[in-house]
Amino acid sequence: MNVILFGPPGAGKGTQSDFITKSFNLHKVSTGDLLRNEVNKKTDIGNKVKSIMDKGIFVSNEIINDLIEKILSIKKFYNRLIFDGYPRNLDQAKKFDVLLKKYDQKITCVFRLNVDKKLILKRILGRQTCTKCENIFNEYFNLSTAQNHPCGTEFLVKRSDDNEKTILYRYKTYIEETLPILEYYNKLNLLYEIDGTMEIDKISNKISHIMASIEA
Ligand code: AMP
Repeated sequence: MNVILFGPPGAGKGTQSDFITKSFNLHKVSTGDLLRNEVNKKTDIGNKVKSIMDKGIFVSNEIINDLIEKILSIKKFYNRLIFDGYPRNLDQAKKFDVLLKKYDQKITCVFRLNVDKKLILKRILGRQTCTKCENIFNEYFNLSTAQNHPCGTEFLVKRSDDNEKTILYRYKTYIEETLPILEYYNKLNLLYEIDGTMEIDKISNKISHIMASIEA
C-alpha cells in the first residue's frame, strides 16, 4: 500500500510516518528530509534550496517531482511508500498522478492530522531532532530521556526553519496551497481525518487500525 500523510508543519507527520514505516514495513518519503539531506551534503540541489527552505518557501515543483520520480522507479519500494509532506500543492498532486500511473502504482489511503495554529507553534518551537538516530523529540511534549533515547542529548539539534516567523509563513502556505488538495482525495474516498492533538500513541493506534482494516 501507498499512504499519504497530510497536516500543517508540526502536526506530527514525521513521528507518525516513522511509526507506520516500522509497523507496516513501508519506506518513508519525506521531501523535507530528502532536501535537508541534499543541503547537508552540499550538493548543487542542496546549495540551491538552502535559503529557500530557511524562509519556509516551497522549493520548485521541478526539483520535488524529480526526487519523487527517482523513488517511484525503485522496484523494492513498489507500492510500499509513505509520503510525508508531498504532494504540497495542486500542481504536485497532478504530476504525482501521472507519475503513479507511469510506475503502475496507486494511493491506498490519505490521512490528515488536524492541529490548530497555537499548538503547532509550541510543538515546533520545542522540536529537536537527533542527528545520530534521526528520531524526533520535543522539549515540551516528548523529552529525550536515557530510557527512550540512548544516543543522549548531545546529538539533539533544532531545524534552522523552526522559528516563529517561518512557522507562521509555512502554516499560511499550508492553508492556501496544500489544503485544496485534500478535497481532491476526499472525492476519491481516500481521506481519513485524524485528531492530531491526541497523544502520540493514540494517533498511531487509530492510524494502524484504519490501515489494518484496509489491508484486510
Ligand atoms: P518539511 O520538513 O516537510 O517541514 O519541509 C521543510 C521545507 O522543505 C519546506 O518548508 C519547503 O521549503 C521544503 N519542502 C519540503 N517538501 C516540499 C514540497 N513537497 N514542495 C515544496 N517544498 C517542499
